[in-house]
Amino acid sequence: ATGFAHPVCAALEIAGDGAVLPLASGRPDSWFDSDGTMTKQPVRALTLSALAPRPGEHLWDIGGGSGSIAIEWLLSHASLRATCIEPRPDRLARIRANADRLGADRLQLVEGAAPAALEGLEAPDVVFVGGGLSQALLERLATLPAGTRIVANAVTLESEALLTQAQATLGGELMRIEIARATPLGPRRGWSAAYPVVTWSTVL
Ligand code: SAH
Repeated sequence: ATGFAHPVCAALEIAGDGAVLPLASGRPDSWFDSDGTMTKQPVRALTLSALAPRPGEHLWDIGGGSGSIAIEWLLSHASLRATCIEPRPDRLARIRANADRLGADRLQLVEGAAPAALEGLEAPDVVFVGGGLSQALLERLATLPAGTRIVANAVTLESEALLTQAQATLGGELMRIEIARATPLGPRRGWSAAYPVVTWSTVL
C-alpha cells in the first residue's frame, strides 16, 4: 500500500506486505482458528452491531467457542474488557491462542457451564449468549441490574423457542438472519443457504 497521509497508515506502509487486520467487526473467519464451531463472519458482524460496545464496557461471552465474539468486542476499543465462559478446556486454549495472536488482551477465561459458572464473576454491562442457552440461564440473566444489555443467538428450534418466550416476557427485539452465498452449481451458480440464526436483543 502506498500514498497514505495519516501517520498510522504511514506506519503500516513501513511495516511492509504482511496481513493487516481490518478495523470493522466481521473480520474474515480465517483470522480465527476454530474446530468448526464459530459464529461466522456475516452473523458475527451483525452480532457485534447488536452488542454495540461503548467505551469501558465489560462483556460476558457465554459459550465462547473460538472466542471470535469476545475478541472482536475487544478489538473494537482499547478500553473494553471481556470474560469468556466455556466448559471445554480445548476450546478455552484455542480462545487464548486466538486472542494472543490478534492482540486482544483484557480477556478473562472462565472454565465451566453457565449458569453455574457465572457465580462470583464481575458483573457485565453486556451479555452475549452464543451457547448454553437454557431457561435457567435466561432466569439468571434476568436478575442482572437494570440497564444490562443482552444479545442471544439461536440456531436450533429448541433454543429459538426459548428466545421467542424470552421476548414475550422480557421484551426486546427478535431478528432472523438468513444468509446465502453464491456457490458453483454444476456449470453455473446457485444460492447456498446457511442455517437461519435468530437473534434476541434486549435491555433489562
Ligand atoms: N460464538 C462462538 C461459538 C459458540 S458455539 C464463536 O464465535 O466461536 C457454542 C459454545 O457454547 C460451544 O463452545 C460449547 O462448548 C459452549 N457451551 C455449551 N453449553 C454451555 C454452557 N452451559 N455454558 C457455557 N458454554 C456452553
